[in-house]
Amino acid sequence: MTDIPIPIPEQSKAQLHRIKEISGEDIYKCMQCGTCSSVCPMNEYAGFTARKGIHLLQLGRTEEVVAARLSELCAACHTCTVRCPRGIDVAKVYEAVRLLSLRRNVDLLNPREIPAETIEEAPQIAMVSGLRKLTA
Ligand code: SF4
Ligand code: SF4
Repeated sequence: MTDIPIPIPEQSKAQLHRIKEISGEDIYKCMQCGTCSSVCPMNEYAGFTARKGIHLLQLGRTEEVVAARLSELCAACHTCTVRCPRGIDVAKVYEAVRLLSLRRNVDLLNPREIPAETIEEAPQIAMVSGLRKLTA
């Protein structure tokens, strides 16, 4: 990981190390061009864009990235990864953020709170992938 002259709290350093370890990606290669944001279909649903999330990670603001939930909303379409001019697998970075969040053992979706009509009408695959992604 490239060293940059920004003071980053020790806890965030440890989280950034985990993200790099899990994803294998160097977020400091990002030049903030915004291409990933321009192609991401989930921008409007998350707390911020794919580009901004990478920028916040570069600054060590990992908790804000976890809280924005782009990593859970990510459709794994990999368009950001294919288009990134710096060759960063952006989808892998967000998946690593999701794994950090998952290991806190917090359920973002309680199966008991899913309305009966949703269970009846939603495609089985949507239910399975939702539970897989959103429950610890
Ligand atoms: S892989 Fe995820 S973050 Fe990347 S463009 Fe698709 S939805 Fe957005
Ligand atoms: S496309 Fe790549 S270089 Fe551009 S903002 Fe996204 S991660 Fe950074």
